[in-house]
Amino acid sequence: MGDLASPARIRQLAAEYGLRPNRHLGQNFLIDGNIVRKVVAAAELRGTETVVEVGPGFGALTQELLARSGLVVAVERDPILARALRDHLGADPRLVLVKADARTVRWNELLQWAIEQRQEPGPWARGPEEPRPKLVANLPYAVTAPVLAGLLESEVPWERGVVMVQREVAERITAVPGSRTYGALSCLVAYHADARLVARVPATVFWPRPEVESAVVRLEFRPYPGMEALPRDSLFRVIRVAFGQRRKTLRQALRGRGGFWSREAVDQALERSGIDPVRRAETLDLAEYARLTRQLLGE
Ligand code: SAM
Repeated sequence: MGDLASPARIRQLAAEYGLRPNRHLGQNFLIDGNIVRKVVAAAELRGTETVVEVGPGFGALTQELLARSGLVVAVERDPILARALRDHLGADPRLVLVKADARTVRWNELLQWAIEQRQEPGPWARGPEEPRPKLVANLPYAVTAPVLAGLLESEVPWERGVVMVQREVAERITAVPGSRTYGALSCLVAYHADARLVARVPATVFWPRPEVESAVVRLEFRPYPGMEALPRDSLFRVIRVAFGQRRKTLRQALRGRGGFWSREAVDQALERSGIDPVRRAETLDLAEYARLTRQLLGE
């Protein structure tokens, strides 16, 4: 099967399968084995866990993941790439390849199903002592945010994720309160995991070369303290409305478009949660948003 990350091999596979890389599908394939190994190493695989990969493409990462984990569940939207991957890696019984749009996948159900597909029980079978699933992906850039949101909001008990994204998105994912790039996506990620930038990646390691730089982000999943019994939908509605008008004060933003709270309810909630109404959305951390949401819910 050869090295599925060498430039010559990827070009040859594209010619053989008649694949013209589609920009809308974010088809920029890794052609540098060192980056592939770096991404996989950051996942710290133990050889027994289930790994989800979004957009396996020709299988540069998939091949390495199969060598180091118990089961790989790969979701690819492009039928040509799904066929190529089946032809080259399909003989490995530990690969479950699904042709689907990752934006609409119900991850928890898919993982359960994939584990049941296995003919014999193995170390990948989910039990109380088994390792939690991991996520490793070079994400398609056009749909990074919805795909990531779906993965995070699924009920899968992730342990760790390593994702390659556009550098600007990596900055938003890892941003802390008060910074220019801090926004709703930073809050969503912070709710689920500690995010850390692992590496910056130049455009030269892809074929074809994207116009932007990339970066690898590592996510360590953990529950955020103090969120118990707080409806997630309500919390993120407040966050979205606040960031919807990030240049305005919090009071103005929450009273404005998108918010469904009365002026009085907004003023009272800000006062009771001890948050200065003239602060802006980008200065609040998740714990403050949680306090504010509880007040807006009338708790
Ligand atoms: N993993 C390969 C690599 O690193 O060389 C390819 C990564 S490429 C950046 C993104 C991959 O995601 C492509 O194979 C593309 O066809 C696939 N893709 C694009 N949109 C998708 C979607 N909505 N659901 C699943 N896969 C998608």
